[in-house]
Amino acid sequence: MTMGSDMTETIGAGFLVRWLAAVAEDVDREADRLTELDSAIGDADHGANLRRGFAAVTETLAKEPPASPGAVLTAAGRQLISTVGGASGPLYGTLLRRAGKALGEDGEVTRERLAEALGAGVAAVAQLGGAQVGDKTMLDALVPAVEGLRSSYGAARAAAEEGALATVPLQARKGRASYLGERSIGHQDPGATSSALLFAALADTAVAEGAA
Ligand SMILES: [Mg+2]
Repeated sequence: MTMGSDMTETIGAGFLVRWLAAVAEDVDREADRLTELDSAIGDADHGANLRRGFAAVTETLAKEPPASPGAVLTAAGRQLISTVGGASGPLYGTLLRRAGKALGEDGEVTRERLAEALGAGVAAVAQLGGAQVGDKTMLDALVPAVEGLRSSYGAARAAAEEGALATVPLQARKGRASYLGERSIGHQDPGATSSALLFAALADTAVAEGAA
């Protein structure tokens, strides 16, 4: 692969399997931090839930590697929904499963097409949670990340990180943190933080694969 040809590099099933393995590693490394954030404004299970969920995803994908990018995301989403309780399993599961469905059965897809598919996944998450940007949820990182991904992997990573940090001064309007009212202000949202990890891992994978 040549460098600097981000416009034309395509993504195969293996790329997405390696992405999700990188997510599992990052989530494992950051699990204590996610749990700490969730203990401030939630029920202190976010790190453990995602660690278990993405470990199961990695195991499933390694055991039976799907043939297409869409099938990878669909299988991963299904695994998260069946493995992770609470809200994060169904929400992340919906994100990936809906994105997988949007990709269909094509063997290779472009970054732009992945952005579009993840955008469909994010819309499904918003619908499931009844939330929008500014409610101090994972959407505060996911929405700008998908927008950034239309330009580059690096832009997606930066936008997700910025979106997660921007949740600190917000008052939660959805999810368990909303029960705290004004006391949710001053804490970074755990879901937005883990969402930023997904896009950091995607950018790392793209660099490792020579796609960015
Ligand atoms: Mg929780």
